[in-house]
Amino acid sequence: MSDIIAHTGSAFRLTLRRAGRSLLARIGCDCPLCGARVAGARLCAGCESDIAGSMADPAVPRCPRCALRLRHGHCAACLAGAPPFSRCVAAFDYEPPADILVHMLKSGLRLSMAPVLAGMMARACARQGLVLPAGAVLVPVPAGRASLRRRGMNPAAEIARALAGELDIPLARAVLARRRETPRQATLDRRARRRAAQGLYVCREPLAGRHAVLVDDVMTTGSTVRAAAQALIAGGAQDVTVLVAA
Ligand SMILES: [Zn+2]
Ligand SMILES: [Zn+2]
Repeated sequence: MSDIIAHTGSAFRLTLRRAGRSLLARIGCDCPLCGARVAGARLCAGCESDIAGSMADPAVPRCPRCALRLRHGHCAACLAGAPPFSRCVAAFDYEPPADILVHMLKSGLRLSMAPVLAGMMARACARQGLVLPAGAVLVPVPAGRASLRRRGMNPAAEIARALAGELDIPLARAVLARRRETPRQATLDRRARRRAAQGLYVCREPLAGRHAVLVDDVMTTGSTVRAAAQALIAGGAQDVTVLVAA
């Protein structure tokens, strides 16, 4: 009986969440890039197809595994060592004008950008035919203490919260933790980033064969998501998919 009540309760919450989402999707907003009137927190169709277009452009070859642009016909990062995740989906490349969407969230602290980015990421997953298995769980990359103090929030966690609604996947906020604090990423070169990220994360909850969907805002060299995915695999995750905005 209690099982039935629990099931009805969670089904009711799901229905409520869906109703809330469809209501929000009808509220008039401004496209954050061009200001055109749109329904819901999202870019207008023109801006979205402009900035997401390069992700599907066959003239822009990409690594099928980590989504980085291929400059010499192969992915130097994956060639140097297969990443501990099977796939990475990015909504757009981190360059103007789309990079401003990430700046608005991270520097401008406009939390309303989190659902905009999450929506773009969910549509990128759909375009690329990503199918996540039942029991998948969303795990945001944890922020450092200094950046949490500076911003008062973790951009990856805000995006993951909105993505949980978009993809109907449970959010596991506290699965990953940092073992130590590191210098600001932006101040480090590629090799220093890799060194700083090594063994940086630890999995705090057993993932026993579950599929972990790692969420971050921006992937630059990939050293952060590699270290985080490594921790998830060490924590028992069967596989890791990485979702990044840029
Ligand atoms: Zn627009
Ligand atoms: Zn690659």
